[in-house]
Amino acid sequence: MMIATACTSVSAQSDAFSYTDESFADIQMLRYKVEGFENLTLRQKTLVYYLSEAALWGRDMFWDQNGRYNLRIRRAFEKIYTSYQGDRESADFRAFELYLKRTWFSSGIHHHYGSEKFQPEFSEAWLREALKQTGATLDEEIFPVIFNPAVAAMRTNQRDGDDLVQTSAVNFYGPNVTQAEAEKFYAQRKATADPHPIMMGYNSRLVKDADGVLREDVWRACGLYGTAINKIIENLRLARPFCDTPKQQAVIDKLIEYYLTGDLRTFDEYSILWLKDTEDLVDFVNGFTETYDDPLGMKGSYESIVNFKDLEATKRTEKLSKNAQWFEDHSPVDPRFRKEEVKGVSAKVITAAILAGALHPSTAIGINLPNSDWVRKDYGSKSVTIGNLTDAYNKAARGSGMAQEFVIDDATRQLIEQYGDVCDDLHTDLHECLGHGSGRLLPGTDPDSLKAYGAAIEEGRADLFGLYYVADPKLVELGLTPNLDAYKSQYYTYMQNGLLTQLVRIKPGNTIEEAHMRNRSFIAHWALEHGKDKKVVELVKRKGKTYVRINDYEALRGLFGELLAEVQRIKSEGDYEAARALVETYGVQVDAELHKEILARYERLHLAPYKGFINPVYTAVRDSEGRITDIRVSYNEGYAEQMLRYSRDYNALPDVN
Ligand code: ZN
Repeated sequence: MMIATACTSVSAQSDAFSYTDESFADIQMLRYKVEGFENLTLRQKTLVYYLSEAALWGRDMFWDQNGRYNLRIRRAFEKIYTSYQGDRESADFRAFELYLKRTWFSSGIHHHYGSEKFQPEFSEAWLREALKQTGATLDEEIFPVIFNPAVAAMRTNQRDGDDLVQTSAVNFYGPNVTQAEAEKFYAQRKATADPHPIMMGYNSRLVKDADGVLREDVWRACGLYGTAINKIIENLRLARPFCDTPKQQAVIDKLIEYYLTGDLRTFDEYSILWLKDTEDLVDFVNGFTETYDDPLGMKGSYESIVNFKDLEATKRTEKLSKNAQWFEDHSPVDPRFRKEEVKGVSAKVITAAILAGALHPSTAIGINLPNSDWVRKDYGSKSVTIGNLTDAYNKAARGSGMAQEFVIDDATRQLIEQYGDVCDDLHTDLHECLGHGSGRLLPGTDPDSLKAYGAAIEEGRADLFGLYYVADPKLVELGLTPNLDAYKSQYYTYMQNGLLTQLVRIKPGNTIEEAHMRNRSFIAHWALEHGKDKKVVELVKRKGKTYVRINDYEALRGLFGELLAEVQRIKSEGDYEAARALVETYGVQVDAELHKEILARYERLHLAPYKGFINPVYTAVRDSEGRITDIRVSYNEGYAEQMLRYSRDYNALPDVN
């Protein structure tokens, strides 16, 4: 990834709501709008309010999970930040402020994405002086943690050959526990055959006591992080009466039971109740969830999102699901590879109301839970896309200069401006609701026969299904696209991304490795090559800059259909050689000269490669008896202001846990 140097904040849009806020280091702060909140009933708004409170009370747990010194550093630094009387314009103070902003963003002193420790650009002497002046304190052992690059260098170290537990700063294991000890501890417990295995180690820290015995400190009401967990339980109890259905109350009851006991079997029961609850408008995730931060991939990082169904957007996915059979029957693939009877997956589109823990400020735009393999196999999972976050990214990208720099002409830019968002959402819906579910394997084909190329082929298949159908008159008939020109916006941006702009995420000299990037690359390059004779798509140079030019959109649709048929054949027959040839020929290699040009053009735009969100603020309006009469939402809290308020109002844990 490229690091853009600090740039001044992008100017606010003319309307009252601004999607972009300040930027610093490699970060651009954005805001999201909770569209439709005012249309919820008072009951639903109150439910969102208490679930949001529950979400935020878990924040300090995530900080502590990310490193055992994080809370102490944050508290001392926030005291300096709010009460320092020295020169706040000095280089040291400004470097200190930048360090604190980055630390807030990562919920700790390591980069949220790369995991490497931040190197402060203020001096240790300055920090000692500032601590003294403000009356803040910091244990002596913490200075090397901040200043010595060799101490706690990585939050999560994945380098093969290292002791991953000892060399990772995450606080999932006691300081004297080794990787071998942790692996042995869990291997012994996993040995018993269990058709419904719990997520071993999911909600605890593994520690070693004085006589060398390993045990788990479980994160539960009467255990580790108990003070935070009890605040979460308190707010779940306040939320419970405002659920729309008894089904959702049962979900909350089970979650409370799990937080009280820490029993992972109860957690599985909770997950099953949660994934089956698809009718309630308001929904939420609250708990120890994803395991990416643990080098051994077992411990769940705390996260929470509160959301409600986007009924308009979900209508869109329902229209597609209802017509799933029509799409299957009319697809350009060989009838032998089509499904005789398809069931559309109704993935819902949601509006995020609050993000917390591992989902804040940096976040995901889609969630598919639970993570337990046996629960997924026996009961399925709940899949959501977060519409208002995608929308915020799109709106923020508008002023970024990308379109000005990379789109060939004004007419195409206007097309994208007009239809880009609609067709982008539709392409995603077609990909998720129909694409992945379409087609079938021939009897006897091993589903794993494409091996390492399986993911790129599967993503390419879903993308091609979406590309082929986004241009279909059927979508106009269903009222999903406004006319027969709109799809061209999607064709242009897809080709531009696959041939040019996605290269900004690749370092010079590297090839394309990630499955989604490979699939976009092979689709775009295959279409470029196979439309060459008829000049369907071209790469043209103007004043030394390369652009995509699409001369014949209809012919391009024909090429996408042709490739869809071939990719479906590869998948249905399990043709490994053809998969390898397609991906390796068109999906992996990078033209070094073109890459250099794209990187240089991108760098001149000074865009921050990482983005995150400032949350909205919810305020309860109460009558004289203390009853809630309304919940108001506002969007004008600043980034530092929000972080400081969270630290003050959701101060759930002691310094050392
Ligand atoms: Zn996909």
